[in-house]
Amino acid sequence: SKYAEEIAKGKNLFNLLQETKGNIRVFCRCRPLNREEASSGYATVVDFETAKDGELGIITGGSTKKTFKFDRVYTLKDDQSDVYADASPLVISVMDGYNVCIFAYGQTGTGKTFTMEGTEQKRGVNYRTLEELFKIAGERKETFDYKISVSVLEVYNEQIRDLLATSPSSKKLEIKQAGEGFHHVPGIVEAKVENIRDIWDVLQAGKNARAVGSNNVNEHSSRSHCMLCIMVRAANLMNGECTRSKLWLVDLAGSERLAKTDAQGERLKEAQNINRSLSALGDVIFALASKSSHVPYRNSKLTHLLQDSLGGDSKVLMFVQISPTENDLSETLSSLNFASRVRGIELGPAKKQV
Ligand code: ADP
Repeated sequence: SKYAEEIAKGKNLFNLLQETKGNIRVFCRCRPLNREEASSGYATVVDFETAKDGELGIITGGSTKKTFKFDRVYTLKDDQSDVYADASPLVISVMDGYNVCIFAYGQTGTGKTFTMEGTEQKRGVNYRTLEELFKIAGERKETFDYKISVSVLEVYNEQIRDLLATSPSSKKLEIKQAGEGFHHVPGIVEAKVENIRDIWDVLQAGKNARAVGSNNVNEHSSRSHCMLCIMVRAANLMNGECTRSKLWLVDLAGSERLAKTDAQGERLKEAQNINRSLSALGDVIFALASKSSHVPYRNSKLTHLLQDSLGGDSKVLMFVQISPTENDLSETLSSLNFASRVRGIELGPAKKQV
């Protein structure tokens, strides 16, 4: 069959299936009730009964339930390794030369950072991804020479901040001024990483730099997009072919709408910029889906940066994060509606980046 031939040429099965099924996946993850909510007996609106079929029920009032369909719905029993297991095939395809974008979307406090970054005991997608990239590079060292580097950026109020360029601890890292891989935004710093220790240093350096100049780190993080870009350069030792692929890992700003009472000054400007970039992200995905001749990448810094990882030859994974409580119902519905629209879309067949 066509597949057998392709597999013989070294393609992995996941990639082949991906080509026939389209290349955007949406996974839904709900955070557990926190201690305070649990002890004060908060009502939850989430129904996981058919979660194994990728369905999530939301009780919108009384006996009314609205059901959403995703590629995967995690229950509260799924842990960080279960979540990573679903991201792992995409991580492998980066090593095969594909561009990939993984992002977490949702209201502040729903677990975006927990999913992407995690904690020291419960490491998230970012760390596990880098760990797996090194593992694969090791396994393939007879056939491929891989060079891996990382950039850490923040987009706040439509301004890009290169966190490794400004990090107080970045001196420890070997910094390579590239630009080459970021033709849309030149001069971004790439830190070369060679082992797990380097990864930890880079992630830490980025984190430290993020805190600089903001008096409330949590608030600042909820209003900015935190973007990790992993550049993989592969030289095939058998045929001399070289590929470069990019993996974006993005913890988006909180998607919540601003309360009317807060709508002034700096807060208003922040909120408008967040709205603008999140809707720009939606617009880009919808334009790609409708095969529109104009894809509005330039409408926000976020989409501009992600440009070559959202197009027709890339694979995209979105975690839509939600809260289980009744208080957050309207934000939850709005996140799930956005995610459902995104999921209804196929970006087109995946192609290899050369
Ligand atoms: P966000 O990044 O969306 O603002 P956080 O990741 O900071 O949200 O999560 C808010 C709180 O909920 C944190 O204390 C986090 O540790 C906790 N949390 C979120 N998701 C989970 C989960 N799946 N399991 C355990 N704790 C979680």
